[in-house]
Amino acid sequence: MSSDSLNSIFSNSEVKSTIKLLLLEDVAEDIELILLSLTNANLEFNYDIADTATLYREKLDNNIYDAVLADYRLPGFNGLEALKILQQSGQKIPFILVTGSLGEEAAVECMKAGITDYILKDRLFRLPNILKRSLEEFALRRQQQQALIERQKAEIALRESEQRFRALIENAIDIILIVSSDGTFTYLSPSVKRILGYDPISLMGHSFFDLIHQEDQQRIRQAFNSIKIQANQFTILSEFRVCSHDNHWLMLDAIAKNLQDDHAVSGFVINCHDITERHDTAQQLRYDAYHDKLTGLANRSALLEQLQTAITRNKRRRQDHFAILFLDLDRFKVINDSLGHLMGDELLKNMARRLEQCHREGDILARFGGDEFVFLLKDIREPQEAVIVAQRIHKVLKSPFTLNNREIFISASIGITISADYYDHPEQMLRDADAAMYRAKAKGKACHEIFAPTMHLSALKELHLESDLRQAIQRQELVVYYQPIVSLETQKIIGAEALVRWQPPGQSLIPPNDFIPLAEETGLIIDLDRWVLKCACQQLYQWQQDFKEFAPHFISVNLSPKQFSDSCLKDTITEIVGKTRLDKKHLKLEITETVFLRNSDTVLELLYELQQLNIQICLDDFGTGYSSLSYLHRFPLDTLKIDRGFVNHLGQTNKNDAIVRIVGTLAQELQLELIAEGIEESYQIEALKSLGYEWGQGYYFSPPVDAQAFSILLEHNIFHS
Ligand code: C2E
Ligand code: CA
Ligand code: CA
Repeated sequence: MSSDSLNSIFSNSEVKSTIKLLLLEDVAEDIELILLSLTNANLEFNYDIADTATLYREKLDNNIYDAVLADYRLPGFNGLEALKILQQSGQKIPFILVTGSLGEEAAVECMKAGITDYILKDRLFRLPNILKRSLEEFALRRQQQQALIERQKAEIALRESEQRFRALIENAIDIILIVSSDGTFTYLSPSVKRILGYDPISLMGHSFFDLIHQEDQQRIRQAFNSIKIQANQFTILSEFRVCSHDNHWLMLDAIAKNLQDDHAVSGFVINCHDITERHDTAQQLRYDAYHDKLTGLANRSALLEQLQTAITRNKRRRQDHFAILFLDLDRFKVINDSLGHLMGDELLKNMARRLEQCHREGDILARFGGDEFVFLLKDIREPQEAVIVAQRIHKVLKSPFTLNNREIFISASIGITISADYYDHPEQMLRDADAAMYRAKAKGKACHEIFAPTMHLSALKELHLESDLRQAIQRQELVVYYQPIVSLETQKIIGAEALVRWQPPGQSLIPPNDFIPLAEETGLIIDLDRWVLKCACQQLYQWQQDFKEFAPHFISVNLSPKQFSDSCLKDTITEIVGKTRLDKKHLKLEITETVFLRNSDTVLELLYELQQLNIQICLDDFGTGYSSLSYLHRFPLDTLKIDRGFVNHLGQTNKNDAIVRIVGTLAQELQLELIAEGIEESYQIEALKSLGYEWGQGYYFSPPVDAQAFSILLEHNIFHS
C-alpha cells in the first residue's frame, strides 16, 4: 500500500490524528527504539508505559487507548496474558506484539488467541505501517459494526411500524382495500370477512366493481375514474350497494385515494364504511313518514304530495288528466263498535289488500284516515275510466271478508273528482271528492258519484257558503216556488206550499236540500225563512187580489226548528205578515217533529202564541221522526202531513198501509186536517181517498213551480181531464 493511500485512509477515517498508545515494555532501550521508529514515520502520538500486570490493568481502567504495543516476555506475565487482560477490559483496540524473538509455535498460539499482529524488534522499521494498518482495520470494523447496529435498529423500527400498521388495518372496523387501476383487488383487509362474509384471499384478483349493485356501478366507476390520472387525489364514493357473501345488499360509504406512486401501496386505497344500519334506519323513517302503519298503504302526507305533483303537472300539460276516488266504508263504525277495534283493524288491513287489486300500476292508493281510502288515478282520458274503477271496487267488495270465522259484508261509498284547471291545491280536490262521496252515501250503500259543481255548496261550506248565502238573500238570488195542495175529491187547488230555491246568476237552480242544512248550521236560516215568509204572504195576497175565491185558501211556509230558539218569534212573524197585509188565518207554518226535541215548554208556549194569532200549524213529514203520539195531544196542531215515504209505498206492504190508515183515523179523531205528500200516481189518490185522506200534494198534480206558472195553474185550477 502506498503512503498516499495510507494517508488518505488516515485522513478520512475516524482514526484520530494523535494516536494514544500503551507500551508494555520493561526494557528502556527497547522503548526508545519503538518511539524512534514511530517518530521517524511522522506519526503523531502519545503514550503510557506499563511494565507490570497491575500497572497495565490500572492504565486500561483509567484511559482509553488506540492500540497496545506489548513485549512477549514481561515481568511476572507474558504477551498472551496481556491480551486476555485487554480483552477483559472491554477496549476493542489493536494488540501488537513487539518481541525479540517468537518461536513458530508461540506465534501461532498468539495469532489464535487474537493478537492483531506481531513484529520482531529487529524489524522495528515496519512498526508504523503495521500500526497504521491495524488501526485502520479496527476503525473499519467499528464502522461496519456501527452500520450493522444502525441497520438492525432501523429494521426493528420498520418491523414495529409495519406491525402497528398491520394491526391497525387488520383490526379496522372499516374495510380497507387496495385495487389496481382497473379495479382488481390486490389487498383486502381481514374485516372483509366480518363485514361482507368473504374470505379475503378468495377475492384476490377479482374486480371490486363486480361486487357493486348494477344500478350503482356506473356512478362509482365514474368517481373512481376521476382520480385515476393524478396521484394523491381522492374521491368520495357515497352510498353504494355491495353484495355480501350470503347475497344480501350492504350499503357502504367509501373514500378512494390514488396512491399509485407510493412504493408500498402502488394502487388505489379504498376505505369503506358499512352504513347499512344507518341507511336502513333512515330508510325506515322515510318509509314511516309516507306510509300508513296499519295497512302499509301510502298515508295522507304521501297522497297530498303526489296530488300536488299531479295538479302542477296538469296545469303545465292540460291533457294530463287524473282523478281521485274518495272512498268511505259504509257502516264501518257499526262493525268496529260491535266486533271491537282489533277486528276493525284487521278488516281495514284486509280491505287495503283487496282495494290494491283495483288500480293500475302507477296509480296510488292511500289510507286517508279512519275508514277512508283515496285512489289517485293518473293518466285518465275520460271520467268514465274513473267510474270503471269505482265499479270494480264495488265488485270486489261484493264477496265477504272472513274474520274470526265470521263473514262480514262491507260496501263503500265513493266520491269521484276529475282534474280541472281551477284546482290549485290537493285540499280543494279532496274536499270536492268528499262532497261527492257524501252524495253517494245519501243515495244508499255501495254507490259512487262524480263531483258536480252544485256539490260545491256543501264542499265550500266552511269557506264561502256563509257569505254567498248572505249575499244571495241580499241580491235576491233566492226564489220561492209554489207547489199546489189539492183536494183529492175535486182535484182543485186549495193551498200552496212555498219551497225555496237558489238561483245563482248564470248557474242552474240549486235545490233547498243542498243549502238548507248549511243555512241551519250557520244560523242564516233565520233570515232565509223570514224572507220566504214575506214573499209567500205577499204572493198569496196578490193571488187573492187576482183570483178572489179561486185563490189558494192557505199558504204553507216551512219553518226551521232553529226559529224556535227565537223567543220573539211571534212578534217577528206578526211584523212580517202585517206588512204583507195578508190575513194571518191564511198562513200555515210547517214544522217537523225535531222541534219537540227542544225545550218543549218554550216550544209549547210559542206555538200557543202563534195559534192565538190565528196562524195554523202543520206537522210535516209525519211518521219519519220521533213521533210520540202524546205530542199530538199536547201541542196545538191544525194539520198533519204524512211523509211521502208512506205514500210512495202504498199497496206494497200491509204494515205501510196500516200506518197510513191509522194516521188517517188519528187525524179524524183529533180533528186535524190531513195532507198526503208525494203523490205521483193516480192509484195513490184512490187509495188515499179510501183511507179518509182529503188533501194531497205531489208531482202527479204539479211539481213546485214559480209564481207565474202557479198563476197559470190557478187559471185552469183542475188537474184531471
Ligand atoms: P218538504 O217540506 O218535505 O217539502 C217537500 C219536498 O218534496 C219538496 O222538495 C218537493 O219538491 C218534494 N216533492 C213534492 N212532491 C213530490 C213528489 O210527488 N215526489 C217526490 N219525490 N218529491 C216531491 P224541495 O222543494 O226540494 O224541498 C226539500 C225540503 O227543503 C223541504 O222538504 C223542506 O224541508 C226544505 N225547505 C224548502 N223550502 C224551505 C224554506 O223556505 N224554509 C225551510 N226551513 N225549509 C225549506
Ligand atoms: Ca214542507
Ligand atoms: Ca214533507
